[in-house]
Amino acid sequence: MQSRRAFLRQLGAVALAPSLPLDRVEPELILYNANIITIDDRNPRAEAVAIANGRFFAVGKNDKVLALATGRTKKIDIARQTIVPGFIDAHSHPAEAGLMHLKQVDCDLRSIADIQAAIRERATKTPADEWVRGFKYDDTKTRDGRPLTIADLDAAAREHPVYISHRGGHTAYVNSLAYQRAGVTDDTPDPPGGRFDRDRQTRKLTGRIAERASEIFDKVLPQTNSRADYRDGVKLIAKMMSRVGITSAHDAWGVHDFLRGYEDARDDGALVVRIYCFIHVSEIDRMLAAGVRTGFGDEWVRIGGMKLVADGSISERTAWLSQPYVGRPNDFGIQVTSEEELYANARKAHEADWQIGVHANGDRAIDMVLRVYERLQRERPRHDPRFRLEHCTVIDDSLVQRIRALDAIPTPFAAYVYYHGEKMREYGEERLNQMFALRSFLDAGVRVAPGSDYPPGPFEPMMALQSSVTRTDINGHVWGPKQRITVEEALRVQTLHGAYASFEERDKGSIEPGKLADLVVLGRDPLREDPGSLVKIPVERTMVGGRWAFES
Ligand SMILES: [Zn+2]
Repeated sequence: MQSRRAFLRQLGAVALAPSLPLDRVEPELILYNANIITIDDRNPRAEAVAIANGRFFAVGKNDKVLALATGRTKKIDIARQTIVPGFIDAHSHPAEAGLMHLKQVDCDLRSIADIQAAIRERATKTPADEWVRGFKYDDTKTRDGRPLTIADLDAAAREHPVYISHRGGHTAYVNSLAYQRAGVTDDTPDPPGGRFDRDRQTRKLTGRIAERASEIFDKVLPQTNSRADYRDGVKLIAKMMSRVGITSAHDAWGVHDFLRGYEDARDDGALVVRIYCFIHVSEIDRMLAAGVRTGFGDEWVRIGGMKLVADGSISERTAWLSQPYVGRPNDFGIQVTSEEELYANARKAHEADWQIGVHANGDRAIDMVLRVYERLQRERPRHDPRFRLEHCTVIDDSLVQRIRALDAIPTPFAAYVYYHGEKMREYGEERLNQMFALRSFLDAGVRVAPGSDYPPGPFEPMMALQSSVTRTDINGHVWGPKQRITVEEALRVQTLHGAYASFEERDKGSIEPGKLADLVVLGRDPLREDPGSLVKIPVERTMVGGRWAFES
């Protein structure tokens, strides 16, 4: 009788995991009769996968893979549904978002009156004088056609200080009591890198604060979250992300509370999304001192790069641009950090062999960040540092060439055209052909890895797919058609490129033997779907590490 090893070797046509001891491995699970889009160039399509120890053991035709089954192997008929690798969100804020969902008023509502009602309701349940906080407010998504004002918020809650963050996270809206608590009056000067908006005529505070003006509020906002809150927030958001097919996310602003929240959720067995956790520059020193660096951790929670911020945001129209915003000839956005400060911090990380990710939306900010990266590589060349440009929204040809030369990784917003279309007017039709520039990056050979930036952007991968392929917004307006990519390319950037962006391309991003068994079962095949309805493809199931994390 031939040995099991010899039998397995004979299979030939089926791709097997190279590192596993073949005669001892029994697949725990086989998914067969599926339409598998592997994102593996050597084996682009398959019908079945065998899974052992949380990893793909074999990928191939039904008969070959089914032949690996033993009496203990569970077999599931996928009934011709489509399987793709688990989606990787290369830039989002899961722990922070989870905590917000747990504790704050969700202001993703369609009128100021609705937002006021939600704040009022929360205020009645909150002792007077305590803060009422809200999140996901979006000034362009309400029917009123104007932003929230200090008067709106005072009318909703007079006895409570109110702080409502914009969906984009770079501006906030506060009431009179909140200003009072922060010691900000009509005469307070703007802080460096920030702005207290004032009425043009009366010079009185409007309620809106921008960029680093929030730091003064951070000092008075209560920090009353418990360790359990962070953990529960992570559990909540991981579940939400898993439902739409996300199996890995890069947290772009990790602080120690978030990191511990991820670890606590993992230890409870409730972390169903793998986390690559960037560490914010303000918390990096203790990690450097302890000798921790990028890559430290396990396949569930891993330390990412160091995070820095260069400019403002796209959705709130504060990105630092070379050409002004449409209709505001003197507004070029906001530079948040000087080049010298950026360089000093980046150098610290570079010398300690950390990956670096700098938030840079506008072309002026991107130019500055590239100058810093180029200087670092000149002064201390490092092999494969995988510098990241977080968002990297507004580009031109020369910026793309410099990104290519550095082998840097941009992480643009993939769903913004579709979801935030109404904001694009302030950038203008022409400039949109140089924004969220997936086509330009791919053509130049840049391994672009898009992110949602949730909460600022929605995290549904199917929405990102439709947005990247059609460049059409919810109302049917086309923005920047030159940047369209194909469905297959859109799948690849949201899976394999995301893995590359975290140095994990050997472990995830495609369905191939030896990689972690992270996959998504879709209700319809995106390659055969009308591009205008990709967003409607249902996610049937999500698997992480060989276990179903979500089943519809
Ligand atoms: Zn972000």
